[in-house]
Amino acid sequence: MTETIYDKSVPGRVGVVLPKVDVPTSDLPADLLRDDLDLPEVSELQVVRHFTNLSAFNHSIDKGFYPLGSCTMKYNPKINEDAARLPGFAQLHPLSDDDGSQGALALMHTLQGWLAEIAGFKGASLVPAAGAQGELAGILMIRAYHADRGDSRRTKILVPNSAHGTNPATVSMAGLSVVELPSDENGDVDLIALRAACDDTVAGMMITVPSTLGVFEEHILDVIEAVHGCGGLMYMDGANMNALLGIVKPGELGFDVMHYNLHKTFSTPHGGGGPGCGAVAVGEKLTPFLPGPIAMIAEEAESEEDAPLYGLRMPAKSIGRLKAFQGNFGMHVRAYAYIRTYGAAGLREVSRHAVLNANYVRSRLRGVYTMPYDRICAHEFVTEGRFEGVESVHALDISKRLMDFGIHPPTNYFPLIVHEALLIEPTETEDKATLDAFVDVMLQIASEAKENPTLLTEAPHVTPVGRLDEVRAAKELVLCCRPLPDWAHTQAGD
Ligand SMILES: *Cc1c(COP(=O)(O)O)cnc(C)c1O
Repeated sequence: MTETIYDKSVPGRVGVVLPKVDVPTSDLPADLLRDDLDLPEVSELQVVRHFTNLSAFNHSIDKGFYPLGSCTMKYNPKINEDAARLPGFAQLHPLSDDDGSQGALALMHTLQGWLAEIAGFKGASLVPAAGAQGELAGILMIRAYHADRGDSRRTKILVPNSAHGTNPATVSMAGLSVVELPSDENGDVDLIALRAACDDTVAGMMITVPSTLGVFEEHILDVIEAVHGCGGLMYMDGANMNALLGIVKPGELGFDVMHYNLHKTFSTPHGGGGPGCGAVAVGEKLTPFLPGPIAMIAEEAESEEDAPLYGLRMPAKSIGRLKAFQGNFGMHVRAYAYIRTYGAAGLREVSRHAVLNANYVRSRLRGVYTMPYDRICAHEFVTEGRFEGVESVHALDISKRLMDFGIHPPTNYFPLIVHEALLIEPTETEDKATLDAFVDVMLQIASEAKENPTLLTEAPHVTPVGRLDEVRAAKELVLCCRPLPDWAHTQAGD
């Protein structure tokens, strides 16, 4: 490990000069003072360099290519950050009355309308704080819809086996049971299995379009028809909307409800666990059940020069609140700024380029890497991280080796139904030179796998820390930069 800030500590050195006291002094109660805080004594510059260097250890989209499949790690335009930090937005108290929050309410109302429009739906709610919470909102709405009609037999949700792990988890959290559907050899839902599962106990189906295999479900209209035919509702996991903006409207395909990941499709720094927004959009049947509060027009404008009066309300049969206040409002501002900047034509170009970039990388890697679903992909594609005759090399080794080149690894071992899966999503914000550089590295790694596999199995070689036990590193976080005391070592099993 490199030198720590403690190694730089010099007794008596201070990093701050406090102003002269201009009030009467008094002693702090002794029992509130801790004398076991062994803090380093360093200058301001040392502290600044310490934290700046630490921050540079992390990979981020602002630092390098980040093709993490399913996560849409696109570049976040800084103007969206500026907008979210405007004092009128950032410092607005969530308990301000409607009169004092007209600007924020207008923004929410407009964004709800855009999100409904983009996906071809009737209404939207911005409340859910993440994609997974949007899923929960959607399934709770489906449950409430059936309950409202007095139909209590519908307890099952159909979920394809290629689904994101949050999908079956959501179904269980909503108190319904999962029926897993197999995929066919093209990566589409097995229609025979689907039709066999459709009966009057089906509450609905959750499907990701394009799927997490990176392909657009070819029989989507048949799938929707089968589920609607047995009285179920259709949920679309819209985390992959980056492939569809301005091209496909899920509501027009027949879906009843969808969640967006505003923090994926409409940019926002994400990956560290939030804040996010899993806005839900719904068709006519489910609008009364939307989670609230949602922004609405309380009083129409009196003339064209006037603005209407905005307010908040709970929809008539709302599933309720899922989050304090109105959700993560800063996210609404970022998504608003993003959509506003691109406009309708620009959003379509976003998706066209996302799809083009993924297909470009896929075609260049084809032949060297195995493509389990060898067809035109959407905004991402899945490949296999293994080579014939090289037993020792796995997807994880390819990912670790990529880090030596300053590239964030793709998503590993997901989707679960692909051996040694590597899910690659370049996004539209990368140029051809970056994509070519990535492909060249991937091709080099493929040769290394055959010629010198230990280069891969021992990677990474140039990162600040080597290969971690990722599960333990997450479960037993060690945040101290100094060697651990003995007791901690025995606990960590070192
Ligand atoms: C990211 C993702 C989710 C979950 O979204 P979170 O915001 O992380 O909760 C769900 N489904 C798919 C397909 C995703 O890619």
